[in-house]
Order: sequence, then C-alpha cells, then structure tokens
Amino acid sequence: MKSLAIAFGILIACALQPALAQASQRVVLPDNVTPLHYEISFTPDAAAKTFTGSVKIDIEVHRQSSEIKLNAADLTFSRVTLSTVAGAPTVAFDPALETATLAFATPIAPGRYVLSIDYAGKINDNAAGLFALDYDTAGGAKRALFTQFENSDARRFLPCWDEPALKATFTLTATVPGGEMAVSNMPIAAQQALADGLKRVQFAESPKMSSYLLFFGSGDFERVSRMVNGVDVGVVVKRGDTAQAQYALDAAAHILPYYEGYFGAKYPLPKLDLVAGPGQSQFFGAMENWGAIFFFERDLLIDPRISTEGDKRGVYVTVAHEMAHQWFGDLVTMEWWDGIWLNEGFASWMEYKSTNQFHPEWNLWLRAQASKEGAMRTDARAGTHPIIQPIVDVLQANEAFDTITYSKGQAVIRMLENYTGEDAFRAGVRAYMKAHAYGNTVTDDLWADLDKTSATPVSNVAHDFTLQAGIPLIRVTSTRHGIRLTQDRFTADDTGNASASWRVPVIEKALGAKAEWRGMASRDKPADFALPKGAVPIVNAGQAGYFRTLYDKTLSAKLAARFRALAPADQLGLLNDGRALGYSGYQPMTNVLALMAQARTGMHPYVLANVAGQIEALDRLYRGLPGRTAFRAYGLRVLGPLFVQVGWKARPGEDPNLSQLRSQLLDTLSQLDDSAVIAAARQRFVAYMKNSDSLSGDLRDSVLSIVAAHADATTWDQLHALARNAKSSLEKHQFYILLGSAHDRALAQRALDLVLTDEAPVTMRPAIAASVSDYYPDMAFDFAAAHFDAINAMLEPDSRNEFAPGLAAGSFDPATLAKLQVYTEAHIPPTARQSAVKAVATITYSAMVRGKRLPEIDRWLKGHRRR
Ligand SMILES: [Zn+2]
Repeated sequence: MKSLAIAFGILIACALQPALAQASQRVVLPDNVTPLHYEISFTPDAAAKTFTGSVKIDIEVHRQSSEIKLNAADLTFSRVTLSTVAGAPTVAFDPALETATLAFATPIAPGRYVLSIDYAGKINDNAAGLFALDYDTAGGAKRALFTQFENSDARRFLPCWDEPALKATFTLTATVPGGEMAVSNMPIAAQQALADGLKRVQFAESPKMSSYLLFFGSGDFERVSRMVNGVDVGVVVKRGDTAQAQYALDAAAHILPYYEGYFGAKYPLPKLDLVAGPGQSQFFGAMENWGAIFFFERDLLIDPRISTEGDKRGVYVTVAHEMAHQWFGDLVTMEWWDGIWLNEGFASWMEYKSTNQFHPEWNLWLRAQASKEGAMRTDARAGTHPIIQPIVDVLQANEAFDTITYSKGQAVIRMLENYTGEDAFRAGVRAYMKAHAYGNTVTDDLWADLDKTSATPVSNVAHDFTLQAGIPLIRVTSTRHGIRLTQDRFTADDTGNASASWRVPVIEKALGAKAEWRGMASRDKPADFALPKGAVPIVNAGQAGYFRTLYDKTLSAKLAARFRALAPADQLGLLNDGRALGYSGYQPMTNVLALMAQARTGMHPYVLANVAGQIEALDRLYRGLPGRTAFRAYGLRVLGPLFVQVGWKARPGEDPNLSQLRSQLLDTLSQLDDSAVIAAARQRFVAYMKNSDSLSGDLRDSVLSIVAAHADATTWDQLHALARNAKSSLEKHQFYILLGSAHDRALAQRALDLVLTDEAPVTMRPAIAASVSDYYPDMAFDFAAAHFDAINAMLEPDSRNEFAPGLAAGSFDPATLAKLQVYTEAHIPPTARQSAVKAVATITYSAMVRGKRLPEIDRWLKGHRRR
C-alpha cells in the first residue's frame, strides 16, 4: 500500500513506547483449520449500502476440533453448514477481535470439508471493506463501489482467514446492474443477463494469494487497454475520463517488461488493471490488489489542464510502486505484518529504480534523499522503531505503515544494493522470487539469498539496520595521513540508546578525484583512510549510506569553502546533515545557513529547492518571534535572485526539474509574505477567473496556492464557489484543500466548519482539516478533539488512531502536549499509540529548536546583514 500518512510522517517523529510483543503473543486465529479455496457469490445493494453474500470455503481440518474460528467484522450470518456434518453449529461473534466462532455439537474429524456461510454486510462510506464513492456528473450523482482490504478488512466483505500467511485461491461472482462494469483480480470468465436489469459476472479463479489482495469494483466505468508482453494491461476510470488515463497506461506499459526482466519472472496473471476511484483516503493513495490495483484518482489520472510536473512524476512512481508489489508482496508475501517493510521498503526503493530507468532526467535518486531525510527525522527521536518490529495485532499493523517502514526501508535497501553491487543484488532477488513464489517469507529469507549471490555477505549489515532503531553518526577527524571515521549514534533528543552499534558501509572520496574508497566503520573499529595532501574528503560520497556525517571543524570549513564544487547529491547530503546536526546542537546552526547563502542559479534545481524548503521550515518556527523580520530578510536575499532567474513562466525546452524549483520558490516566497509574489499571483488569479485556460497546470497550482494562503473573505468565497462547482473530482478535491490553507484565522475556521457539513464528499472532509493543520495545527487538533465522534465516522478504521496526532504534530506549543496526552488516554487503544508518541516527540523537538537554535540564528544574522 502506498501510504499518504508519509506526508504526515515527515513532520512527525515519539514518548510512550508502545508495548511490543513476541511472535507467541500475536493475536491470530487458531491453527486447527486452514482455507484452500473460497467461492464467493455476492449481490450489492448500492442504494441501501448493504450487500448479501454466500461463500463456500474448502478447508482442511488438521486435528479433531469442536470449534472453527475465522475472521468476520460487521457481518451477520443467516446459515452456516459444514459438508458431511449434520446440524448447524452455533455462532458467536467477538466484535473486538473481529472473529466468529462456530461451535459444533460433536467434534469434527481431521480432513477436507466445505464450509458454507450465507451472510450479509454493510457498504461503508470510507475505504474499508466494500465501500462506496459518490461523485457528480452532468447526468446527476453516481455511486461506484470498490473494496480495500489491507491490512485486515477483507473480513468486512466475507468470513475468512484474514491473515497474510493463509493463502488460498478465490472465485468471485457478483450480481450488479446490467449497465455497469465490474472488475476484480482476474478477467471475467462468464456473464449472464438476469431479470430486473441485473447481470451476474463470474471472474476466473485467482492464483493462490493472501486475503488482503482480493479486489472488487463496479460502476459506470470505461477501460482503456493495451497488450504488453501477452498481458492485457488496462486503466479503468469513470465514464468520460479515458483521456486522463493515457499517461498511466503508458507508464504501466513501460514498467511491466522492466519488472519481468528484473525479477526474472513473468507477470503471473493474464491481465493487470489500474482502477481509479474518485475522492481520497487519509491512509493511502493506492493499493496493490493483485491484477487490479486501486488508486485514488489524483494518484493515477493526469489532466493536462490542471496537473503539474510534480503530479506526473507522482503518478509515474506510484504506478511503479504498486506494480513492483505485484511480485514483491503479491507473488511473494510477508508471513506476518512485522515483515510489512519487506513489501513497502522494497516497493518504495523500486519505484525510484524503475522510474529512473525511463526518466533519468527526473534525477529521482536526488529526490530519494528527501525521502530518506523524512525517515531520519523520525528515526532520530523518541517513538522511532526498528524497521522490523514485533506486531501483535491489526491495530499495530495499521501503525506500521509509516515513514520508517517505507522511507528508511527504501534507504536501507539502496545502501545494501550499493554495498553488494547491482548485479549481485538482482541475482539474490531473482533467487528469492523463484524460491518463494506463491508463498510467504520472513526477512531473513531475503538476506539468505543475497548472502549467496553477493561477494560480501549482507546479513550482518542488514541486521544492524533493520533490527535496531536509530541513525549511526560517523564522526570524521583529520589525521596525519588522511581521515579517521568513528561511529556513534545520532539523536535529536536524549531518549536514544546511546550505545547502539552498526557496521556501516562507507564510501569516501576526495573532492575532484575519480577514485573512491570503500570501508566499514563500526563502534569498535574506527576506519582510517589515507588522503593526498590538501585533499578535501567527502564521506558518504553519492549519499547512498544511511547515516549522518559530522566533520571536524577544519574539514567542515574546507567543505563549506568548496560547497559549489560538490556533486548535487553531496551538496544535498551536506545541507540535510547540516540542518539535522545544527538543530540538534552537534555543530553550530549557522554552518548550514552559511551553506544556504551560497545558493546560486545554475546549481541543481533540487539543491536550490532544498534551500528554499529549509528557509520555509525555519520561517514557520519563527512565527510570533521578533527575529522573524531579520530572518525573512535573509531568506529573501538568498531566494530573491534565484526567483528572478527562474521566473514565473516556463521557458520552452527548460530542464523539467526547474518547474519543481519554481513551485518550491513560489511556495516559500508566499510563506515569507513576499508582497511582489503575492500581488503577481493575485493578478494572475483575476485573469484565471475570467478564463480558466489562462494558466498552465503548474502555474495554476502555484497561483491558487498563494492566493488561497493570503485570501481575504471575498477571495475565499470565490474559491469556495470554484470548489462547489468543480466538475472533476480531481479539481474539487484541490479546491477544498485550498480552502483549508488560508492564513486568516477566521477563514481557517470556516474551512473547519465545512468539515462537519455534507457539502464536500465524505472522503475529502478530513483532508480539509489536515490542510488547516498545516498553518494552524493546534486549531485543527482542537477541532478534531471537540468533534471526535463526527470526525471518526469519516475516517477509515486504519487511520483513526493516527489522524488527530498527525494534525497536532505541526505544533511547537508545549501546551499542545498536555492536550494530546488527554486525547490519547481517552481515544487511542494502548497498542496503537505510536503515532501519538511520535507527535509528542515532534512537538517537543520543534519547541526545543525554537527555544535554543533560533536565538543562535538571530545572533548570526546580526553579524551577516550581507551575504
Ligand atoms: Zn506499497
């Protein structure tokens, strides 16, 4: 699953360590019975938001049993029979554990049986189980149905053994309106018209797979498709949207053969659909159901009128991510949720690797550094956790979809690939795929295969980085003949286990030299590198390592002096380490400011965007402080000349990365209340209101964002009208989010008030509150706490324990900590408090930086009026 929680995760980091448990403490079903095949037949009543179903499950009873326990949530059973066993069992539901226990009068002998259950369930309003998404069309309101089961919501659709290791085959039959298109994992095997304008659609039998990968969707859809290597690849959209589907179809057609080559395994199903649903989730953007990947529209569709360069990249990498799961996750699946990183870390790494193959001009490995940085922020504070952490139950499993799992996961895999070499790594992955196809694994299965194909065993390094939390700190000191590296732990607060030790693969090179040296630094054994006299060393050259680098004063000054001569990846590394080391007091905060002041046109757009992003983040922390004016003057001195060069309008044939920089600069200048930029955006908005074609997708996004942030009541009302009247759900979503971004407090409150009305589609409403939290975290959190029941009803179960802490995490007000504590005690179960703990750590950290580092910056600025 592609998590949107990552967006929060970057801000978030934790204090109440949740109770962790061993495998024996897992809340799982008894092992006396396993499923082999499910034959499901169901009929949704979309208008009533209910459905009826019947399932015949081929099961194997392994030992004499008087009970069969399986998962079921929000289902009622009308008839239960077990083949060859006379009499119906009694049924007892446990709503807390989401199970149904069937008790038989006489014990059942071991052997194979068919368990038949007739049942009924609910169609939900949010993405859990079978759910409905409503949208407007010229012909009136429509409703489409979809399913979302990861991690543990298949049990809302059918009684089943809802655990990833209990793989089985599935045959699905649905009775739907004759005019609708129905989609599932497999192609349609048979169709039959019924009375009352209905039809029965039977899908071909699926391969053996986990229950969380089953999918069904139905609605007034259209499909565009293409044969790729013998696979029918399609994009399924609501009627009228096929033009917006072409971009994703092209991407999928590129990527499928690449993956077949990389994994050394044919895509195993006859078809692959990418299915678009209107609206959004607070928890995810897309889901890798085997053969029928579900996406919320904004992660799949490209509308040239409104989509930005960033949107195109986002769609491409999301398609690449979900398609990687078709092998890594779907064909080979983690045995239990503590191995979820194996799915998500790998797919997150592969999204960069495969996309980079087709779009090298996007420089995605530079972008991957921002993803690593997001993970490091969390990983340096209380509330972080090892990549592989014990997961007791489905609540903890929900929380595992976080930045450590995705972003640290991808960064560690990248480091390991770099360490073994690309060919050896791929050979190991191929062997792993071959050995475990249609099966389940634990992480050590992958390490074992990589150890066999790699010249240097990876297990030891891999264990150090996956089984313990935190970030190694490599200290670099000058020696007589070169440099010495020692290893320590980097923490942003004092909660880390300071004695942690890693074997850290390090690449070191001298600035301007071709040769690089590879070595291993560990706590017990410092690494020494010889250097030519006068050489400037770059440690973590290329920045594929997962660690922070702290140079001694002399080396630091040498690097700063040659900053502009470094490769973009190393400039980014120095800026990111500089910020983290400065914020946390390892080196003067002003080191990074001095680097940022060296930003000049001609440097890589990602580097310049990083500088702009750092200035924006600091300006937020300066809110309400007297030093803000001087800091803004510094920010404008650094960024103003860059923006003059980049300009408002894209030049024909310009580097596509420049449009990303333009968006970032405009965003930051807007945050700095730059009056020229705000006035120019307003002018363009006036033109846009007369003619909506007057702005390109990228510019439209920036102009609307600036105008919305600085809106007065009249402008806000205009944007509100645009939201209400937007025809496409992509546009509607965008306008509602904009309403939440107003800096005017009364307008932000009006946006929050909208959350409680029926005006915006239900899946968009929580996103409005999240948008408000960007500028007013405390206000958005107070609102969510005050309207707990109403907000909770809008959220899918998977995001309920994370949503409100995510809103608060942007705060730097210590008073918020007490409020969050009260909220957590009242509303969040003890096993699901990791997000709350991370939010506490983030707020504490922001307050510390504000209190300790900003005064340091104030003093530096007094001495550096000119750069
Ligand atoms: Zn994923």
